[in-house]
Amino acid sequence: MIIHLNKEVTQKQAEDLAVKYQSILLNNGKLTLVTTSKLKVADDALKAVADEIFVTDTDIQLASKQYLKTKRQVNLGGVTIGGSTHNTIAITGPCSVESEEQIESAAKLCVELGVKVLRAGAFKPRTSPYTFQGLGLEGLKLLAKMRDKYGLQIITEVRDSTHADDVIEYADIIQIGAKSMYDHGILRKCGASKKPVLLKRGFGTTLQEFVQAAEFILSGGNPNVILCERGIRTFETKTRFTLDLCGVAWLKEYTNLPVILDPSHAIGYAYGVPDLSRACVAMGIDGLLIESHPNPKVAMSDADQQLNFDEFRALHSSLQKVAEAVGYSIV
Ligand code: PEP
Ligand code: MN
Repeated sequence: MIIHLNKEVTQKQAEDLAVKYQSILLNNGKLTLVTTSKLKVADDALKAVADEIFVTDTDIQLASKQYLKTKRQVNLGGVTIGGSTHNTIAITGPCSVESEEQIESAAKLCVELGVKVLRAGAFKPRTSPYTFQGLGLEGLKLLAKMRDKYGLQIITEVRDSTHADDVIEYADIIQIGAKSMYDHGILRKCGASKKPVLLKRGFGTTLQEFVQAAEFILSGGNPNVILCERGIRTFETKTRFTLDLCGVAWLKEYTNLPVILDPSHAIGYAYGVPDLSRACVAMGIDGLLIESHPNPKVAMSDADQQLNFDEFRALHSSLQKVAEAVGYSIV
């Protein structure tokens, strides 16, 4: 249950109520209590201090349509997604920052096409310890340099809580990777920040578990959460993962969070990324995250799935019409 407390309630009284009802106290402009969703009926003491009460079916609470009927709006520095904007933000860049020359070429591609958000990982959550692990702090500094030089927003991932503070400091948008979706150290640190967070769905997690992970960030006090579907594991082995578009429809229907899709990690092969991207945009989504690299063949991570720049240019120029057909625009 979510309870918006009325204006007469002081901070101290709210803190006492939070203890009494074993709930989380939030202050996003309004003092708000969030109890377990098992509580379905407010007692008289709660009714006396409440402005509004929202009963939710499950512990998907702050992210639910039962709480907020309209989609949350998230400002990504100069461009807004969600709310009633009908914006589909294009995000591109390599899997990993590899060198200044490489990331600068990606930044220039963004500027050329009007893409406002540059992606690249500095702390890579690799499947093998024997492969490139990312440039770490040096990578973050290169990304910050590109932001300053080209006026782009930077999204980069936090792999574990040891460097979460660095990523939170350097990034404009914090990405939590699929393998880190359950890391409570990261979730809690992101909840304490106000920067936008792109939470990727773990590839072995249900939609309920995914959105409950988002609840940790929201209930930590950060309302700027974006969900990212990036493919889940199924019995299929011909593609790397299976992009769960049914899940996307569910997220749009039952949650109030913007949803970005990542077809690159889902299919795992560049040949399918353009068709999949158009299919994603045709669903009416808040953004698209595509990996691109100046020379994918020599990429140090995710080489098979990255588009070269000409492929990305061709894809990007085909998206606007698809978006317009469903009342959205590519930004
Ligand atoms: C990435 O974005 O490069 C990445 C590692 O993604 P995911 O966490 O979805 O595997
Ligand atoms: Mn990648």
